[in-house]
Amino acid sequence: MARIRHEGPLIIGGGLAGLSAALEAAPAKALVVTPDLLLNACSSAWAQGGLAAALSPRDSAVLHAKDTEGAGAGLVEPEAARALTERGRETVEWLASLGAPFDRDEAGGFSVSLEAAHSLPRVARVGGDGAGRAILSAVVAAARASSHIEIWEDGRLRGLIQDADGRVRGALIERAGGRVDEVFAPAVVLATGGVGGLYEVTTNPSALRGEGLALAYGAGAEILDPEFVQFHPTAIDVGLDPAPLATEALRGEGARLIDGTGAYLLGEDADADLAPRDIVARAVHAARADGRGAFLDATKAVGEAFPHEFPAVFSACMRAGLDPRVSPIPVAAAAHYHMGGIVADDEGRTTVPGLYAIGECAATGVHGANRLASNSLLEAGAFGRRAGRAAAQE
Ligand SMILES: Cc1cc2nc3c(=O)[nH]c(=O)nc-3n(C[C@H](O)[C@H](O)[C@H](O)COP(=O)(O)OP(=O)(O)OC[C@H]3O[C@@H](n4cnc5c(N)ncnc54)[C@H](O)[C@@H]3O)c2cc1C
Repeated sequence: MARIRHEGPLIIGGGLAGLSAALEAAPAKALVVTPDLLLNACSSAWAQGGLAAALSPRDSAVLHAKDTEGAGAGLVEPEAARALTERGRETVEWLASLGAPFDRDEAGGFSVSLEAAHSLPRVARVGGDGAGRAILSAVVAAARASSHIEIWEDGRLRGLIQDADGRVRGALIERAGGRVDEVFAPAVVLATGGVGGLYEVTTNPSALRGEGLALAYGAGAEILDPEFVQFHPTAIDVGLDPAPLATEALRGEGARLIDGTGAYLLGEDADADLAPRDIVARAVHAARADGRGAFLDATKAVGEAFPHEFPAVFSACMRAGLDPRVSPIPVAAAAHYHMGGIVADDEGRTTVPGLYAIGECAATGVHGANRLASNSLLEAGAFGRRAGRAAAQE
């Protein structure tokens, strides 16, 4: 076992939250630890829809916060929602300045699309359904080019080191070959993502199993709403786990949910298909459970435009032998996002001194019982950056 003393924040996880924190920790030295190569085994790279932010002239942070509260079933903390939505534009602009190639409108502004439970088009996309990989690739390139960041791509968090007062002083990191290093640091930032890998069928990389959450609990950190797991209503049902996702933006473009007889699952009104995810997921689950089946019909709304408008969904369908230009896509609800998590403020501080939590493993009060679509990349970037700065001061 090696004993290593690191001078700045030790950041566990290399998704959007962890790398945003690492970039903003400068000039403090940040050590980022992930069990796999950056861009692998993280949800950030799999995000399809995009990042929610009040970007259009008709929109505002207040409206975005209102929609966030509406989707959260009465359990969103209004101040947290405001703290998040007020940072929408600056987060998108920061990511764009790192090279994230957001889709633009004719005037050069950010083009935005509609997703469920948003009252206005508000989701900044990249290349149709390639937002996560494109955004994270830009952030990874910036992190690799930053001299204050060291990255271990063979390290798995195995334990937290605490002193006699309970303050977190470092972490046990298992390296390739099974060696465990003791890494001491002034602050440990958990950015370990969600819990989908614990479920039978998930849209998450299966390596995401809530290990950071469990170890934070073991260290005495307060945990909020661990039972609040969001099921995505339109995982593509072709017997795969992780299940490929048919992004909500398809319904934003007019695709409809139908049963095996062609009847609309949520009624005639197209807006009903864009209800909050818990409502739509229950309808999909009920239709499958009683044998009617559930399908997403994008043949009219997207049709021939599929290959260039939604290339990731198109290729996932084609790999399964299904042409979504002409056939409805069979869908099922699958474990997708963890609203619950390690209690943290909007700078990532948990209830344990020296321990921070950001991104999906944290519970900052912005999601309540149901996350508003595309708010999680925003949270990972916006609060991740703030946590990086705060942890660097420890
Ligand atoms: C298919 C899909 C589509 C999505 N689409 C969208 C979307 O359009 N918009 C949106 O806002 N959100 C979307 N989400 C949700 C969003 O992608 C995530 O909530 C967000 O990316 C989480 O970022 P993160 O940095 O917290 O975690 P992640 O990006 O998941 O990163 C977690 C990191 O922690 C590492 N890790 C885990 N355990 C350990 C351990 N024990 N030791 C060391 N490292 C560890 C992982 O390897 C990884 O590097 C989607 C999610 C999925 C799965």
